[in-house]
Amino acid sequence: MITIEHFGQTPSGQNVERYSLINKNNMQIDILTYGAIIQRWLVPGETPVDIVLGFDQLDSYLNDPSYIGRTVGRYANRIAKGQFELNDNLYQVSTNLGEHSLHGGENGFSARVWMAGVLTEKDNPSIELSLVSEDGDQGFPGKLLAKVTFTLTESNSLHICYDAESDQDTLFNPTQHTYFNLAGHDSGHIGQQIISVNADKYTPASELSIPTGELADVQNSAFDLRQPQPFGSSLTMTDADIKLTYGLDHNWCINGFSMDSQGIQKDINRAAEVFDPISGRRLLVNTSMPGIQVYTGNFIGEELSGKAAAVYAPHHAFCLETQFYPDSPNQPSFPSAMLKKGMKFRSITEYVLE
Ligand code: BGC
Repeated sequence: MITIEHFGQTPSGQNVERYSLINKNNMQIDILTYGAIIQRWLVPGETPVDIVLGFDQLDSYLNDPSYIGRTVGRYANRIAKGQFELNDNLYQVSTNLGEHSLHGGENGFSARVWMAGVLTEKDNPSIELSLVSEDGDQGFPGKLLAKVTFTLTESNSLHICYDAESDQDTLFNPTQHTYFNLAGHDSGHIGQQIISVNADKYTPASELSIPTGELADVQNSAFDLRQPQPFGSSLTMTDADIKLTYGLDHNWCINGFSMDSQGIQKDINRAAEVFDPISGRRLLVNTSMPGIQVYTGNFIGEELSGKAAAVYAPHHAFCLETQFYPDSPNQPSFPSAMLKKGMKFRSITEYVLE
């Protein structure tokens, strides 16, 4: 079942709707047309538990620098100095993290009102959100049509399919920036929730998290999350790289990624898993993308006022952002995020709740 309600209006007068996807198990996921934001994820039970951070008012989303729940594009994560070369042209895109570009620049896809349509087939509530990004939008070349399809399956998986096509060669690297707390959005510190990441390698980074270009083995490093361990172990580490970012905020290279010479992503691989021993909830992340940013909400405001008067603070949530590696346009050894003119981009990410 899908219900639709008015959520608010942007300062420029665009209406924003909230689509609620509800499956047979009574799981409910709410998505806003502003930013294609996942605003609520209700796990059924005697008292349903909302496992994602968010806000009740559109205004709070308009002023949110943390990308809470947003769909991010054209290029998730960083592009160093906002510059890259493509077909011998040098492009300068919008910078919003010092001299660097983060999450698509100042006015990326996460700050747009998307067009929405219902696709529901059989028992799986499904919606498609789309937008047209003009040639030169935030400095990126090519007119790009982007579509994101959210489907809530009967097995309590949120299946997200990203499609895009451009009339010029360009970059495309979409992600989802939901902040999860499996104990409930208002449950505080995530230290006891247990993370594992299916990656033998990660991309070390320097200041402001710009990759050095190296693909380093996780073995014998603070970034070996192949065996499950509580977020708390990472958050209390003295490792200099983790201290630099006040917690986890790094990209792992997912084992098993493959893409053909046309840029078609081949397989869906397990990327990460988080288990909350108290509630018994488990979140699995599967994706066709090559990387995942594991981010422990290090820069959430000290006393951020969230849904239902909840107060959020750093390390009260985690994000599992599937992506091309940060700054891949400037790193020839990283999988390429180039989308060729006329080619059909598709990537899939699923968040499965057990
Ligand atoms: C980045 C963080 C950033 C956060 C919110 C994450 O994807 O890696 O450095 O603070 O998004 O913008």
